Amino acid sequence: AKKQGKNCYGFFDPVLQHDINNMMQVEEELRLALSDRQFVLHLQPIFCLQSRALKKCEVLIRWQHPERGLLFPGHFIDIAESTGLIIPLGYWVFRAACDKVVERIQAGLPAVPLTVNVSANQLKERDLVVQFERILQETGAPAALLELEITESLIMEDMDQAVLLLEQCRKLGLKVAIDDFGTGYSSLAQLKKLPVDTLKVDRSFVQDLTLDHDDRQITAAIIAMAHKLDLDVVAEGIETEEQFEILLNYGCDMGQGYLLGRPVPDPFVVLDQATSR
Ligand code: C2E
Ligand code: CA
Ligand code: CA
Ligand code: CA
Repeated sequence: AKKQGKNCYGFFDPVLQHDINNMMQVEEELRLALSDRQFVLHLQPIFCLQSRALKKCEVLIRWQHPERGLLFPGHFIDIAESTGLIIPLGYWVFRAACDKVVERIQAGLPAVPLTVNVSANQLKERDLVVQFERILQETGAPAALLELEITESLIMEDMDQAVLLLEQCRKLGLKVAIDDFGTGYSSLAQLKKLPVDTLKVDRSFVQDLTLDHDDRQITAAIIAMAHKLDLDVVAEGIETEEQFEILLNYGCDMGQGYLLGRPVPDPFVVLDQATSR
């Protein structure tokens, strides 16, 4: 947000004006990118901390921009949200993830579940569940191999609505994860009501594990609480051996992060070589 200060003519602020121009330009480019297939999926592996076995992969979108190179979601997701383009883009991501799952099945390779991020405006779509069901049917992907990641703060915005929607998704057979957990303010009572399978501990807690006693206590409590509610716990953003060890000791089930594997176009190469031997 721009500072208002003494200048009340915020709209004519040259910096802001530049932002608006930039936003309109990016919107145009995003539209083109969708029809021109400039988006690609990268997958980040999620491992069992105990066995170090690959459990699933998170799908993260990238924009292969013809001039600016590979762009990360930080450069365009907000604009996609505010322009409504996140709706078709979100369906594209879900379909592409389903295609990837089916590709492996048809190639006779071991199935790897994929998790897909779902954003605020997607959740407000009336026919979201119907569309997901249609895409599952059209691609032939087994719903059980797909998990939706929804941020804690989003769920808390409209708890009752979220519960209904998540229940419908799970009726289709999809799994559901709460993303960025610990950054919202859900109570135990609320968490108990949520029809979810997985809880993802936000990276900010993992980052400070080795520095901050409070963050260690909070993380340990989140893991214990999640297990009481029968949820799997995934820690995100593991970057050091020390963080890994602490999480393992706390009984955290799974983890992802640069230490274990970065998001890449094809994280399966190693796995498939190992299993084909
Ligand atoms: P997120 O869902 O919290 O995804 C995790 C982000 O952390 C990813 O950033 C990932 O590359 C990054 N990350 C993974 N391990 C580490 C680590 O060890 N250290 C650090 N510092 N970072 C790590 P990315 O790919 O830039 O995505 C950013 C956000 O964009 C995601 O945050 C998610 O909210 C959103 N996003 C990504 N793909 C999609 C999508 O297909 N649809 C929607 N709606 N949002 C998406
Ligand atoms: Ca996520
Ligand atoms: Ca996250
Ligand atoms: Ca995050």
